[in-house]
Amino acid sequence: MTPETLFYIIIAIILIDFVIDKILDTLNAKHFDDPIPNELEDVYDNDEYEKSQRYKKERFRFGMISSTFSVLLTLGFIIFDGFAFVDNIARNFSDNSTVVALIFFGIIMLGSDILMTPFSWYSTFVIEEKYGFNKTTKKTFILDKLKGLLMGAIIGGGILALIVWFYQFAGDDFWWYAWILVAVFSVFMNMFYAKLIVPLFNKQTPLNDGSLRTKIEQYARSVGFKLDNIFVIDGSKRSTKANAYFSGFGSEKRITLYDTLINDLEEEEIVAVLAHEVGHYKKNHIIVNLVVSLVTTGFTLWLLSLFVGNPVLSETLGVSEPSFHIGLVAFGILYSPISEITGLIMNYISRKFEYQADNFAKSTYDGSFLISSLKKLSKNTLSNLTPHKAYIFVHYSHPSLLQRYRNLKAGI
Ligand SMILES: [Zn+2]
Repeated sequence: MTPETLFYIIIAIILIDFVIDKILDTLNAKHFDDPIPNELEDVYDNDEYEKSQRYKKERFRFGMISSTFSVLLTLGFIIFDGFAFVDNIARNFSDNSTVVALIFFGIIMLGSDILMTPFSWYSTFVIEEKYGFNKTTKKTFILDKLKGLLMGAIIGGGILALIVWFYQFAGDDFWWYAWILVAVFSVFMNMFYAKLIVPLFNKQTPLNDGSLRTKIEQYARSVGFKLDNIFVIDGSKRSTKANAYFSGFGSEKRITLYDTLINDLEEEEIVAVLAHEVGHYKKNHIIVNLVVSLVTTGFTLWLLSLFVGNPVLSETLGVSEPSFHIGLVAFGILYSPISEITGLIMNYISRKFEYQADNFAKSTYDGSFLISSLKKLSKNTLSNLTPHKAYIFVHYSHPSLLQRYRNLKAGI
């Protein structure tokens, strides 16, 4: 295949992906004003429903503008040989291919981050602020950005440097080494993310003794679940939106509750949310997710190893001297239709897992408390109660509130 053909394929992939995404967004937006299903009528009163419609529409318009900007930027960068330009800059600093790759991705990541920052600023301090969600101060916003960039440089840079190094000594067999590296790193992060990374951004405190803790422990005992680590995180530092999640396994497993969740929900509702999280653990969802993502990574790396050394990839992006990092960029774009498909499959599995976790909470605790907590959480995030089916199929990692309601109600 000639570089010209491949060039047009790359442009087509980016455009088609964008157009499909926008069609889905528009389809979904057409249903923003639909009447609320009977089962969910008590989520909003009239004023709140109108407010949620304004919020959805504003988010939709914002998404249109920011994604159009981002796709034009990407296309312009490719068409005007941006990658060759940055590659040249990086080569002026060093002859070492690892160093060149680090500088190359450093410039691209930093550049795109800076260009997109006005959008995330607007999202946080204009849109979220207007609807009363935002609690982030400007100082926190800037610190978050800096910490995020620093972490990306250390972790992303470290992994990239090792993979380029593997490629230097192992050639096309590098993917085995890269796979082992990513696998070890994923398991490590899964275990220690809460201890190592979260404290950089949030404060976590063990849940105090009291009626909530007693109820949680009673429930955990009733399902034979050993739970020593229940933490409360200061999510209210950034947003009023509430959450709870499960992380780690073995002795490192812990449940993290947002302080906003504790404020918004009754104790029984919190236990129901927790029962759902325990369901994920008991049904082995955490292990399955990890294994599936490792298999996908292995497949991607293997495919990368077949193409990355091909000079056509570099020429396609206007770079005369082939290199691992340019091959990686071109491969990344060409691979995106496949990752769209694996993403669809992952979302499908994830929604199945959500039903299973809901059913676990229903059978071991109480479905109606879970329903009322889901309704409250939807109300407090002004969430869309009438999403389009196709949009759910592509984008939702959780079933819609209506789907979960019907599943939880079935058989009660
Ligand atoms: Zn879940």
